[in-house]
Amino acid sequence: MMTSTSSAPLPRCHGRLFMVTAPSGAGKSSLVGALLNLDHALMLSISHTTRAPRPGEVNGREYHFISVPEFEERKQKGEFLESALVHGNYYGTSRVWIEQQMLAGRDVLLEIDWQGARQVRSRFPDTVGIFILPPSIDTLSARLHKRGTDSEATIARRLMGAGAEIAHAPEFEYVIVNDDFETALSQLQAIVTASRLTFRHQAVRLREQFIALGVPV
Ligand code: 5GP
Repeated sequence: MMTSTSSAPLPRCHGRLFMVTAPSGAGKSSLVGALLNLDHALMLSISHTTRAPRPGEVNGREYHFISVPEFEERKQKGEFLESALVHGNYYGTSRVWIEQQMLAGRDVLLEIDWQGARQVRSRFPDTVGIFILPPSIDTLSARLHKRGTDSEATIARRLMGAGAEIAHAPEFEYVIVNDDFETALSQLQAIVTASRLTFRHQAVRLREQFIALGVPV
């Protein structure tokens, strides 16, 4: 098992890493939630954040909610694969957890912003990046208001941040426009399925079978 201090490349493993990024209100969490219900082989990374829990959020389920000093200490110790300041709060992905899942051959999905996505890609260049766009800025605004969990000031900040996030869509391999939810969900599923079927990943996953078939691996 990988130690928490190592930054050496991981040995050959067949877990795939997916990251989904979107401006707030594009429907990312709903799409990811629905995908996880359909795909039990996909593990969701639970991030650490210094943001206060929203009503209904449970520590350890949506996020690990921690204080700023604890976040800084963990970051200092190198516990995060990536971390970023998003809308005034810190967010970070547990490095050891991700490495353990990938070494065990499990597919992992990260819900992170563009800054984190860049950091993850530099560590794992093979990561599949998926960007979710809203059909329009008006739709985005309407969805943020309908959610009813954030104050007007927070919504205004998130809307201003949306443009900045959207500007990074070209850094991702795949883009889904979430207009019709079911369509977007099937597109997300299709990306995950296709990413698992590349020759390189199949050759690791099905090594014995490939050898028996005479496929050069
Ligand atoms: P929210 O507070 O609405 O749950 O998330 C706000 C933003 O933070 C979203 O864009 C989400 O993708 C991003 N985010 C959540 N967890 C992480 C993380 O671990 N790392 C990074 N870089 N961004 C995150």
